[in-house]
Amino acid sequence: MMVRTKALVIKEYIVGESDKYITLFTKDLGRIQAIAPKAKKSDKGFASATQLFVYGDFMLTSYKDTYRLVSVDLIEMFHNIRNDLSALSYASYMMEFIYYVTEPGLSQSELLKLTLVTLQALSKSEADYKRIRRVFEIRALGLLGFMPQLFACVDCGLAIDEKAEAHYYFSAEAGGLVCKGCKGTYEDGVSLSYSTLYTLQYILTVSLKQLYHFQISEEVQKELDAVGNHYVPYYVDKPFKTLDFIERLEKL
Ligand SMILES: [Zn+2]
Repeated sequence: MMVRTKALVIKEYIVGESDKYITLFTKDLGRIQAIAPKAKKSDKGFASATQLFVYGDFMLTSYKDTYRLVSVDLIEMFHNIRNDLSALSYASYMMEFIYYVTEPGLSQSELLKLTLVTLQALSKSEADYKRIRRVFEIRALGLLGFMPQLFACVDCGLAIDEKAEAHYYFSAEAGGLVCKGCKGTYEDGVSLSYSTLYTLQYILTVSLKQLYHFQISEEVQKELDAVGNHYVPYYVDKPFKTLDFIERLEKL
């Protein structure tokens, strides 16, 4: 059977002499693995069209659960990402994240759109990689159904008061904000300033087009880092291979 779908290459690996396996995050079929015949040879075949971060219109044949690549019409290659070590590292982390949260047969087209917008943001010169990473993580978890409660305390319902700065905490275990009085119930509360709280609300509700069009202070970045460091492993408990390198980069 012939299938055609838009898809992003999220993983690639060589098999044998010249063939290559690729993992695609497709618009219609969720995550699939496909064999790309003769893709290893750079002079012919699918060498460039099956690289990591290639987004295209893929034509495949399927037999049982096996897909075989027939042709690709390139839509976007994200060249700039390949030319910058930091951009490459963060983009690789996002591909690993996507690999863990997608599954065969489950179409997640909003998540695919988010991933493409994020790769575009990473491609820009002077991109703020640390901010992009946290925005991506938080927005992606929201799309995956882990939308945190950010407008009142999860436990007692106490509403947000702008003047009560730093009296709110973010807890992955609670599923959102907890007030000072309820914090004791949870072990993982991260203290939030009102600016960070507002930033979180913005990240989860703004249109995709506006998602990367804002600046944040160093303080907000630190709090977003703390939120991400609790929130991501709570829901995506996987051994991220790409994170060690990013952590070393961030210390430079
Ligand atoms: Zn409370």
